[in-house]
Amino acid sequence: MIPFHKPDIQEEDIEAMADAVRSGWLTHGKVTQEFEKTVAKYSGAKRGVALSSATAGLFLGLKALGVKKHDEVITTPLTFAATAHVIQHLGAKPVFVDIDPVTLNISTDAAGHRFNTNTKAIMPVDYAGRPYDLDLLDMAMSFGVPVLQDAAHSFGAATNDRPVGSYSSMTVFSFYATKVITTGEGGMLVTDNEEWADRVELLRLHGISRQAHNRYQGGPWTYEVLEAGYKANLTDFQSAMGLSQLKRDAANRVRRSYIAEFYTNALADIPGIVTPAPAEENVDHAWHLYPLRVSPNRSAFVQRLDELEIATSMHFPVLHLQPHFVTEYGYQPGTFPVAEQVAEELVSLPIWPGMTTAEVEEVVEGVRDAAGYL
Ligand SMILES: *Cc1c(COP(=O)(O)O)cnc(C)c1O
Repeated sequence: MIPFHKPDIQEEDIEAMADAVRSGWLTHGKVTQEFEKTVAKYSGAKRGVALSSATAGLFLGLKALGVKKHDEVITTPLTFAATAHVIQHLGAKPVFVDIDPVTLNISTDAAGHRFNTNTKAIMPVDYAGRPYDLDLLDMAMSFGVPVLQDAAHSFGAATNDRPVGSYSSMTVFSFYATKVITTGEGGMLVTDNEEWADRVELLRLHGISRQAHNRYQGGPWTYEVLEAGYKANLTDFQSAMGLSQLKRDAANRVRRSYIAEFYTNALADIPGIVTPAPAEENVDHAWHLYPLRVSPNRSAFVQRLDELEIATSMHFPVLHLQPHFVTEYGYQPGTFPVAEQVAEELVSLPIWPGMTTAEVEEVVEGVRDAAGYL
C-alpha cells in the first residue's frame, strides 16, 4: 500500500523532543521562544507566535485585527472548514468568492467586487502550497483591509523571492501531522506588527501579561489578567520537534517539487486528467498537495486506485455547499461555478518526501490504469 501521506520523522527529531522532555520543562518555554525566533527569521517576519494549531492562529489573528460581530471577512470556498469557522466564532460573516481556474486560489477579480465598508479582513489560502496572487495584496491595501494569509499549505514557499510570511499583514502556518513540517499538532502566526503579535501572545494564554516561562523563573511574583484570553500555547517538546524538522524543510521541498514535476510530465497527455498548473517562474511552490482534476467519473477512478493500493485524498469539498453553510447563509449550487466544478474533479495524489522513485512510478502507472475507468 502506498499511503497518502507519511510524515518525515527522523531519529534526530525524536532525540530533540526527548531532550526537551528530559529537561523537566513540559509546557511553553525557552525552546518555544527559540522556535518562534527561528520560524520568524525563516519566513522573513519580525515576530512569530507559536500556537496549539493554525486554527488558533487564524482565530486569534482575526481577533487581534479587531474583527467582531457583523463584520465581513472575504475568503475562498476551496478550503478547510477552519478558515471560515474562525470568522464565525467572532460573530463575523465569511464572504466567499470564487476561485481562479488556473491557480485554484481565491480570484482577485471576484474578490475585488466584494470589498465594502463592512470588510474587515481578507483571508486568502495558499491552496496546495501555491502562494496567492500578490495583486490581491495590493488591492486589499488600497482598500485599507488587512490580509491574513492562511499558509497552512505553504510553509517555505515564496513569491518574487519574498518568503511566505514576509508580505501579508499576518501569516499563519500549520504544523498538523500531514503538513509540510509537523509538531503533531501546532501552528504559528508571523507578522511584522509588534502590537498584533503582543495581542496574540496575550490571548493565547488566558490574557495573562507574562509568559509562564518568566512567571516561574525569577520573574515578578504576581501577574495581571488583562482580558478574557484562551488556552492555545505550544509545548517545548513540540517546538523541539519543529526546530529539528525545520532543518530538513528546504531539502524536502526540493524532493516534493521533483515528485510534482515527475507526475506532471508523466500524466500530461491522459484523456480525462488535468495536472495542476506548474508554478509561475516567480513562484516557489511548497507542493504540500498534488491535486489532479479528473472527469467524468471520479469515483470509479478513485476506486480503481484503491484496488491498486494507492491511497488518495480530496481537498476540499466546497465549503459554501456544506449543510452548515447552506442552513446558515442559504448558499445554493451555482453560486461559485469554478470552485464547484473543480471540487467535483479533485483527487490529491501522494506527495511526501520519503517516497521512493519506484513508489512515484507506481503511482503514475496506477493513474494511467485508473484513467481507463473514467
Ligand atoms: C490544515 C489546515 C488548517 C488548520 O490547521 P490546524 O493546524 O489543523 O488547525 C487551516 N487551513 C487550511 C487550508 C488547512 O489545510
